[in-house]
Amino acid sequence: MYQITRDYIRTGNSRSGQKISKVRFIVSHDTGNPGSTAYQNWNYFNKQQPSASAHTFIDDKYILEIIPLNEKAWHVQYNKPTDNRLFGADANDAAIGVELCWGGSINFKEAYKRYVWYHAHLCKTFSLDPRKHIVAHKTLDPERRTDPVDCLKRHGITWEQFINEVVKEMSPKGSIAYQAHLESLGWQGKRKDGQTAGTIGQRRRLEALTVKLEGSNAELEMQGHVEGKGWTTPRTNGEIIGTMDEGLRLEAIKIKCSDHNVLYRVHVQSIGWTEWKKNGEIAGTTGQSKRIEAVEIKLA
Ligand SMILES: [Zn+2]
Repeated sequence: MYQITRDYIRTGNSRSGQKISKVRFIVSHDTGNPGSTAYQNWNYFNKQQPSASAHTFIDDKYILEIIPLNEKAWHVQYNKPTDNRLFGADANDAAIGVELCWGGSINFKEAYKRYVWYHAHLCKTFSLDPRKHIVAHKTLDPERRTDPVDCLKRHGITWEQFINEVVKEMSPKGSIAYQAHLESLGWQGKRKDGQTAGTIGQRRRLEALTVKLEGSNAELEMQGHVEGKGWTTPRTNGEIIGTMDEGLRLEAIKIKCSDHNVLYRVHVQSIGWTEWKKNGEIAGTTGQSKRIEAVEIKLA
């Protein structure tokens, strides 16, 4: 969750004040001007008033809307046909233009996180589907523009990854709930979002585990490494990992989630808590005959 700063430039060539009747899509841009910050762009458009503009400039500190979202900005040339073909309208008349600021002293990672978040925010606000309604300037004007596709690529991010991250950002996170089956105690009560399941200091083996997402449509995939059996086949939401009443210890686990980062750590016999592992990494040991005694899982 980031703050949006609304600081509008004066009307002029960059801001006509003409209204957008309905926002139908988003055009993603980057400024192509290394080191220029959101507020430097505000200054430029406010003073110089070029006949080009965009609604929002994002750097590592600001998500800065310089033109109200119910007004038109001039960020794609009218004579380009692709916006009409894809969306039935010219971008300037029906789209929000979002600019990523990068280079110089701008922390790209921070700016990019805000850029992803803001696209998700716009999709929610205007009921848009990121897979259908976000388009790169490069796609609309490939002869003249490469933004923001080439800029993202230079930073190791494909366009598809960017869209996926917007989808993730929009998906409600919900809670992660889990239950441990313990040696001679059976199923323990439900734990969630980082609480400890299992026991510490009782030399008690954790034998089975169920993990479930609540309030989310995302999918889980989990595997457990069981004493004498090795890795189980993948389990999904709520299925049992491990064994019950066979006297076998769970030694390691792996957990992945389709839409969110999942973090987990296990408390291992004579070792204690492992580091936090994420997204399918192994937590625990294999081939060392050590039991897991407790587990903590959370979404990030
Ligand atoms: Zn552009």
